[in-house]
Amino acid sequence: MRTALVCGASGFIGHHLVSRLKREGCWVRGVDLKFPGYNKSEADEFKIMDLRDFNSWDFDSRRCIVDRRYDEIYQLAADMGGAGYLFTGENDANVLRNSALINLNVLESAWRADSRRIFFSSSACMYPETIQLDPKYDALKELDAYPAQPDSEYGWEKLFAERLYLAYARNYNMEVRIARFHNIFGPEGTWGGGKEKSSAAMCRKVAEAAEGDEIEVWGDGEQARTFLYIDECLEGVLRLMRSSHTGPFNIGSDERVTINQMAQMVIAISGKNLTIRHVPGPQGVRGRCSDNTLIYDTLGWRPSYSLRAGLEKTYAWVAEQVRLTKDKKEV
Ligand code: NAD
Repeated sequence: MRTALVCGASGFIGHHLVSRLKREGCWVRGVDLKFPGYNKSEADEFKIMDLRDFNSWDFDSRRCIVDRRYDEIYQLAADMGGAGYLFTGENDANVLRNSALINLNVLESAWRADSRRIFFSSSACMYPETIQLDPKYDALKELDAYPAQPDSEYGWEKLFAERLYLAYARNYNMEVRIARFHNIFGPEGTWGGGKEKSSAAMCRKVAEAAEGDEIEVWGDGEQARTFLYIDECLEGVLRLMRSSHTGPFNIGSDERVTINQMAQMVIAISGKNLTIRHVPGPQGVRGRCSDNTLIYDTLGWRPSYSLRAGLEKTYAWVAEQVRLTKDKKEV
């Protein structure tokens, strides 16, 4: 039976990945700071562990991050959030320190345990800011990464970590796989509390709005993005992991939309009569879209699920969470 370790197993993508690996018949160990927020993890074994902590390296008691040889390790743990968390500057030191420590520890621990195949989740945020200032700029290609100038410390840490994984591949013979995710969304993602991303935030605002209300969009809403539904993301990750290619590869959608268009789509799905009001707020670069030519040419795969179909599922789930939260408050 194939064995897998998922780091960040309670997070949005990690939790879905554990379920997908279980459906495929893998034995899975999940590791995270906390248990999943919504549904119980399907992992065969789940350890609460702080991956920043060197003291968790006790191989004999199996408190070690990588406690045995695994066929596959998926490293998804990071200190992360949406624009309101990553682009205000307030969390920069934490984001850099926490995620760098996690990556250093997980990778070293994997190498010591001779678990050589490891997936690292990088981000579109590592691309240079300068080529993302125009919303109409061509989608981002993997080779656009250098000369480097990410627009956030989160992006710089991802860039550092990519290089760390590639160096372990070069010097220590690790079988590294790297993907740069572009705005992954779907049910069971963070939808409130400050760490939510724009698609989930939009679903929440619309779900909370009463007929005739205005919903707020940060900036002029003309920032262009591509959003990828979670199932498609996992398909790309597994295809990459089981290929002989290291990457980095973009994993994103081809469907470019502005934030205004995405907001209108969510409003249409809700069936409510709402208008958009633009307010000042962190909005990130003007255009950050995924070019998927490289992964298609290399693995013969590209996502096909439409944004509208993904948002319908996500809106239904977020609206249910909003309703449950309201009911709790009223009791
Ligand atoms: P998430 O925040 O939902 O999940 C991250 C998980 O890591 C959380 O459960 C958190 O508790 C855990 N974690 C954080 N610090 C930890 C620590 N010290 N020890 C143990 N666990 C710790 O994020 P996500 O959306 O699932 O993203 C997963 C990965 O993909 C991250 O590395 C993220 O940077 C990357 N990524 C995600 C997106 C996206 O759109 N969701 C886009 C680009 C890159």
